Amino acid sequence: MSAATSRPTVEARNLSVRFRARGEAAWPWSKAGEVKAVENVSIAVPRGEMFGVAGESGCGKSTLARALLNLVAPSAGEVRIDGRAVAGMPALELRSSIQMVFQDPYNSLNPRRRVGDIVAESLVVHGRFDDRERAHRTLTMLEKVGLGAQHLERFPHEFSGGQRQRIAIARALILEPQFLVLDEPTSALDVSVQAMVLELIRQLRRDLDLGCIFISHDLNLLGFLTDRLAVMYLGRIVEMGPTKEIFAAPAHPYTVELIAATPSPYEEGREPRQPIEGEIPSNVNPPPGCPFHTRCRKRIGPICDSRLPELRWHEGRAVRCHLYDGPPAESGGAP
Ligand code: SF4
Repeated sequence: MSAATSRPTVEARNLSVRFRARGEAAWPWSKAGEVKAVENVSIAVPRGEMFGVAGESGCGKSTLARALLNLVAPSAGEVRIDGRAVAGMPALELRSSIQMVFQDPYNSLNPRRRVGDIVAESLVVHGRFDDRERAHRTLTMLEKVGLGAQHLERFPHEFSGGQRQRIAIARALILEPQFLVLDEPTSALDVSVQAMVLELIRQLRRDLDLGCIFISHDLNLLGFLTDRLAVMYLGRIVEMGPTKEIFAAPAHPYTVELIAATPSPYEEGREPRQPIEGEIPSNVNPPPGCPFHTRCRKRIGPICDSRLPELRWHEGRAVRCHLYDGPPAESGGAP
């Protein structure tokens, strides 16, 4: 268990994930290299918490999600659930501890299988219960996500996007995991359907006492949904803390820009939002020093170009910026 709490906790400790950049389809003029997808990330999410991971596309948030489930191997560091390393954990134990809901409900369900079989699959694969009990649990789980017995025999193509995501959530929860990783689970859905799926996730989190790690580029959504938030840039956490406090007074210049660039549904008529200047640098050759210095309006001099800032505590949250000089905060827990 985490030192910070007695509740079961999923922890990434100094986690890094790197890939070879050059694949079969690389252009002749592209250089071989290593994609530094996740760099030295530490988080600790107790059961019952809704933890958000925010950032632009390519910041490493989806790779972090996959590493938490041991779907990609870390290059350094480790993931622990309730104090036990996920690497080498027996499959049933791992899948009974943590599950994932993917972004695209259209591709994540096998089109040739009936909904009942899709939801029950993990019970069958892991030899859990007899047929009668499996059928009972499958129906109960479908009812928890707002579907019913009339849907058991149908195929995925007979459902809307929102219903498919409900099926994917039922499939993820059938082994009664303690933790759920949701990777942009509503971004492929119509806006009108998104709200219903989000409400379902909130309700299931409460009813089942789940610890959720919610990955999204949508800051409004994370602000509404999460208790704590980590903001990632070029594979690193640049700010982490209670969501309300980050939104009320963002500390890292990137978080400030990200929030300023996010259109809010409540601020009609306000000045047009400013997009963040410049392009995200390559995570094959990230800039030296602070990874954000090529776009930062608050850059304070050569130190920003040459020295990587540590993650440090500042007013109750962890911030990676030379503007702040609190005590080191690499553990991922609370201050
Ligand atoms: Fe900006 Fe410097 Fe802080 Fe980086 S370390 S965010 S460049 S002020």
